[in-house]
Amino acid sequence: MSAERRLKAERIRHLLETERDAIRENTTHMNRQRYDAIERFERYEASREAARAIKEDAIERLPELIDRVRESVEANGGTVYVAEDAADANRYITEVTAEKGAETLVKSKSMTSEELEVNEALETAGVDVYETDLGEFVIQVAGEAPSHLVGPSLHKSTAAIAELFNAHFEPDEPLETAEELTNFARDYLLEYIVEADVGMTGANFVLADSGTVVLVTNEGNARKSAVTPDTHVAVAGVEKILPSIDDLAPFTELIGRAATGQEFPQYLTMLSPPVDSPPLDFESDVPLSEAEGDRDFHLVLVDNGRMEMREDPQLRETLYCIRCGACANTCANFQHVGGHAFGGETYTGGIATGWEAGVHGLDSAAEFNDLCTGCSRCVNACPVKIDIPWINTVVRDRINRGEDAELDWLVEGLTPDAEPGGMDLGKRFFGNFGTVARLGSATAPLSNWVANAGPARALAERVLGIDRRRDLPRFERQTLRAWFDARGGAAVPAGDADREAVLYADPYTDHVQVDRGKAAVRVLEALGVHVRIPEVPESGRAPLSQGMVATAGERASEVYRSLVEHVDAGRDVVVIEPSDLAMFRQEYEKFLPEASFERLGEASYEVMEYVYGLLGEGADAGELADGRGEAVAYHSHCQQRTLGLDAYTEAVLDDLGFDVVTSSVECCGMAGSFGYKSEYYELSMDVGGDLQSEFAAHPDREIVASGTSCIEQLDALFDDGTRHPVELLDPGR
Ligand code: SF4
Repeated sequence: MSAERRLKAERIRHLLETERDAIRENTTHMNRQRYDAIERFERYEASREAARAIKEDAIERLPELIDRVRESVEANGGTVYVAEDAADANRYITEVTAEKGAETLVKSKSMTSEELEVNEALETAGVDVYETDLGEFVIQVAGEAPSHLVGPSLHKSTAAIAELFNAHFEPDEPLETAEELTNFARDYLLEYIVEADVGMTGANFVLADSGTVVLVTNEGNARKSAVTPDTHVAVAGVEKILPSIDDLAPFTELIGRAATGQEFPQYLTMLSPPVDSPPLDFESDVPLSEAEGDRDFHLVLVDNGRMEMREDPQLRETLYCIRCGACANTCANFQHVGGHAFGGETYTGGIATGWEAGVHGLDSAAEFNDLCTGCSRCVNACPVKIDIPWINTVVRDRINRGEDAELDWLVEGLTPDAEPGGMDLGKRFFGNFGTVARLGSATAPLSNWVANAGPARALAERVLGIDRRRDLPRFERQTLRAWFDARGGAAVPAGDADREAVLYADPYTDHVQVDRGKAAVRVLEALGVHVRIPEVPESGRAPLSQGMVATAGERASEVYRSLVEHVDAGRDVVVIEPSDLAMFRQEYEKFLPEASFERLGEASYEVMEYVYGLLGEGADAGELADGRGEAVAYHSHCQQRTLGLDAYTEAVLDDLGFDVVTSSVECCGMAGSFGYKSEYYELSMDVGGDLQSEFAAHPDREIVASGTSCIEQLDALFDDGTRHPVELLDPGR
């Protein structure tokens, strides 16, 4: 293992040991709450569509809206400063505090201020900063960085926080419970809020036409920080601007639900500062209604790379983000390792790649970008419909292009791709899996023997980063297509068939998991389908997962050219591997003209979805294997769930008499090549442990799974032969 991979593996191992349990408990809890809240929210999709459209419009009109905010805030008597970068913002803020002669500043939670590292700048300038959000306060006391966009200290358990507070504050009675800790922090911080010279907040939204700052919290500390001192500094990225209050409703409906599963946040504060009420003087006897005094307000709008992101067609979407953290909560890798691994200088979780690349640069994003496996579970979780995996892929592509070309010769011949020299060799290898598979089958069984020999495993680990603890795919000498030709092609002639279908032979089905391909052919034929298996290139999923966007684009065009004649002839395209179907139905939108994308997407079906459709159209289920109550434990593929196709498998198995339980665990942890990589092997197995625990409760059930990766992971977890569900239906089994 290279030194870099070893360091990464050690860091992940350390976080699995120290932070995993708290992170997992908190993120999975919030994720469950989100599912429940969304299920109860009938207008969810409409609200998402509306929020997305408002964000698209606001970012399009951003320069105009910044001018509008300035006019509104200045008309209210406040000041707007547009800071070019972090240094500029910090200079302005420290000048404001210096002019006020401020010695203390209280602050509510703001990721933008974390991005600026404003606390450090203020403290260098002699201003004491007190975080008033409980989570931020905890990590300030601990001297740590936030591990989550919404819950900065969710990597800490109650016991760990109690230990921290007891050691730091030495209270008369040791603190133990969450309630005691919260009460202590509230009382402690209240004294600083009362005495503070300046209050600083972030802003969840800024309304251009009124200069209103909208703050969403669960603790009420933002409002206290904003209005108790006579000077309020609000810091917000320029992307937080919405045109007017008329645009706010979908966001208030979505943000609490997406973040924590709350139908409405505890506090929604709308201030158009400087507010009219006089500053609070807690020592004065003068009633507030008679008190006097001026207030000062500064809105610091931060660019720091955002206007460049706006001009970047791939990163622009990041600016729609409302920082709810749902993409992190739904991500299996994040649930296990948290934001101290899955994050850059400031931002954590799925969307962090876009933010880090935009505001801190590619180096910061490169630190953790590979932790996104592209499973796409976050896409449906995002309240503004950001294609987070695509942003991760594009950034990965940019990172790849900056790498060193020294060892490229080692994989020459195995890498017929469209990428420049210098990519990580492991990525280049995995991105060209189709070529590897063809070679593997052509030379099997020798290829399998050589690949598994000790020296070859050691070399593969050192050069390609393939962990030697992971079983390698075993290539079949006779491919699916060769088998199909050898049996004389289709058993159901086109003239006798109810339908005609092209079975897409992905590299795994063609070269490794050939049995599932054979079963699919027999099942389709049993239901009266004329089957063809033409030679069609790889879908591009493998290169895309490695960030090889140009190669994936080439593959998309080649696949379309190969399949279009069949689609035009009215043949259905049947796909066994869900991640390939997701290419046809989702990712090809990025690569093909719209009409071509729609044509192929509409003609393509996942194999069990197709069987479900055939049975619905009257095909004879009696021609398939009868379940006879056979007990099955089924795990569906993450992209299959995202596409909403898992229910078809369950329905077909159920109809045919199988007794099915389906895993509630969304991710097996393998995710294509991810689980093979030496630096991620332990994380992959840790994530897989959830599925292992769930299925271990059903020892008498046969385990089936739809995805190649899931099958490999389940084989590793249970040391058993996991099959594809279509194999259960095989009349020849
Ligand atoms: S990308 Fe979407 S899900 Fe993730 S934090 Fe931003 S708004 Fe929330």
